[in-house]
Amino acid sequence: MEIEIVQKNFQFLEPFEPLEEVKNIIVHHTSRVNMTAEQCHEFHQKERGWSGIGYNFFIEKDGTIVEGRGHHVGAHAYGFNRTSIGICMTGDFDIENPTYKQWTSFLKLSDYIMKQYQLSPHQVLGHRELEGVQKSCPGKLVNLNEVRHQIAEYLH
Ligand SMILES: [Zn+2]
Repeated sequence: MEIEIVQKNFQFLEPFEPLEEVKNIIVHHTSRVNMTAEQCHEFHQKERGWSGIGYNFFIEKDGTIVEGRGHHVGAHAYGFNRTSIGICMTGDFDIENPTYKQWTSFLKLSDYIMKQYQLSPHQVLGHRELEGVQKSCPGKLVNLNEVRHQIAEYLH
């Protein structure tokens, strides 16, 4: 399947590190209603003090898939960054749903990553499902069992 992943000219402050064995996809939302990949990059770099955008991939409201850290170690899930791919969608899914185009891109991207790393649907986790995470990420309106179910259907 064809997938279009947009490369931005993000400047990272530190060199990329290679991922170890990838065991999970971790799903996030920005928790900000309108945050572009560029704004996220700037926020993570200037406010968080990280090398640059922490997510491996970022999906805009119009469904555009943007490469962040790509297939390198990200900064999105404490203790899991070396062994997972973090996908973030713009939006506050405590109060709004992902757009249809965003969701379609998410399924497509997950399928692509899962084939690349030979993952199965149960290895797709929401950020809040990780031990010790207090926030609702990827948002209260996102039912993660339903996400895994949809991914399993999509993979067929
Ligand atoms: Zn998160």
